[in-house]
Amino acid sequence: MKIHALTTGTVRVKHSFLFPSRGPRRQLDLFLPGDFSDPLPIHCWAIEHEGKLRLVDTGECSSARDVPFARMDVAPEQELPGAMAAAGLALEDVSEVVITHAHGDHIDGLVHLRPRALLNEVELRFLASPTARVMRRVLRQPLPPGFAPEPFALDGGPFGAFPRSRALTDDGRIVVVGTPGHTPGHVSVICVDDSGRHVLLAGDATDSLEQLQSLRADAVGPDTGVHVATLETILAHCAEYPTVYLPSHDPESAARFANATTVSPARVVGGRLLAASGQR
Ligand SMILES: [Zn+2]
Repeated sequence: MKIHALTTGTVRVKHSFLFPSRGPRRQLDLFLPGDFSDPLPIHCWAIEHEGKLRLVDTGECSSARDVPFARMDVAPEQELPGAMAAAGLALEDVSEVVITHAHGDHIDGLVHLRPRALLNEVELRFLASPTARVMRRVLRQPLPPGFAPEPFALDGGPFGAFPRSRALTDDGRIVVVGTPGHTPGHVSVICVDDSGRHVLLAGDATDSLEQLQSLRADAVGPDTGVHVATLETILAHCAEYPTVYLPSHDPESAARFANATTVSPARVVGGRLLAASGQR
């Protein structure tokens, strides 16, 4: 198995996005004036395994509009075709795309692709909801032209600490797991690499490893309780299996990926000891 880290430009996000207030100001602050972060990567991932090339997410396009809490910086040559060429990969070799969630910086690159794109059925239903429709209009973030992903269900039973999963390969080495929170149907993809490490392509499950280890819900998810429960599940998985944790926008993802750095299995989380046994 060979995994490639792709980067389709950068995004700067508001401080209140990375470190939200509690209570009603959690989402309100996103729309008020505030400082922005340094540029963060917009990663997506390519996986070569058993003669197939899969993508997890497709990155952003140069035509993307900013939103009040995120400013995109994507040059045309940084879009998916350029990012893949930089990794020595060809777009036409892609056979399948898995989408972690339907935000623009993860799906806009679909305009460059023909093969089927898979999206959790929960996320697809959420996209059709009045709330999601209104938010897309208010934030001027339309779905990409021709957006027609194939829904799938997480009906494969538990995988590690994750109660819901679906294997994408017969050998069970590429597995989609449910990581709801950032969006209701958010998923992550775990690749069991040739050394047996779990490479967790986390999408926007969190923005950083620090956010995961702080068990901090983000500013945009509809239900902070659901989000924190997912973060606990991810940490429990990291305690059970050597896991390389790779969120799409963590500036340290590329280095952790390159060095195969796994999440330390034992650490104090919110005053509780997360033991190597996976105990929470
Ligand atoms: Zn997102």
